[in-house]
Amino acid sequence: MPAIDVHVHPSTRGLDSDACAYFKRDLNEVPRTEEKFAELFARHEVKALLIGWHPSTVKEGTRNSNDHVLDLVTGYPHAFAGVLASLDVGRENPDRLAEQAGALLRNPKVKGFKFHPPDQGFYPNDKKYYSLWEILASGDKPVMFHVGFTVLGANSEGGKGIGLDYGRPIHLDMLARDFPRMKIIAAHPGWPWQEELIGVVTHKKNIYVDTSGYLAEQLPELFQSAIRGRLQDKALFGTDFPYVDLVRALESFDKLGLKDTVKEKILISNAARLFGL
Ligand SMILES: [Zn+2]
Repeated sequence: MPAIDVHVHPSTRGLDSDACAYFKRDLNEVPRTEEKFAELFARHEVKALLIGWHPSTVKEGTRNSNDHVLDLVTGYPHAFAGVLASLDVGRENPDRLAEQAGALLRNPKVKGFKFHPPDQGFYPNDKKYYSLWEILASGDKPVMFHVGFTVLGANSEGGKGIGLDYGRPIHLDMLARDFPRMKIIAAHPGWPWQEELIGVVTHKKNIYVDTSGYLAEQLPELFQSAIRGRLQDKALFGTDFPYVDLVRALESFDKLGLKDTVKEKILISNAARLFGL
């Protein structure tokens, strides 16, 4: 069955070594050229949304800047449906951020935004960012926030300065309350706060969730039953490629034994509707 993968990091500009180590990725399996990267998704009839990475914590090169992911979408439209753009909330001043957000919202290849509160060191419900959220909410493009555990800094002293608390799902609850028009996506099942996440997604109609960072059968059980049931219209298929392999993710999704109608929603139609694809 064709699919939309809402959570893809291009593997064309280097890989995160902490993440590769954590997922025990065989680096020979990861396509490094743009052509091979696009070809993998095209071959499996999966349209990817590519995540732009905020530059604050990237030490080497430009990595997956917004410009790089936009170029990939321009070059390989059969494989890539658009980008989730990043904004450097920790570094830029509010006026400059507003300007950048406006320009990105006007770009039709930008289908939404992605933030990583633990890595960027901010609370999504901090009032300091409300003027930015105001702009993004008015643009009607979904905004994704990383929730739960992160492989970034995992198993290193002090977690390389990363605090997991910024990624608690509950911080999205107030945000969703204060911006009811903002379509919010919680990226990942939120472990070790999967119960908190399910509570928040069930309560706030404008919060969605993706399945990324896990093979489907390894998703927390509670999360599996939620997406099978009450949350079947709000769950989106995502891999977290290249850290989770696309082919294995698709195969594992089949093993969940979902009803065809539910499977179709999670693999395609929920994302197609949400992102207007
Ligand atoms: Zn990711």
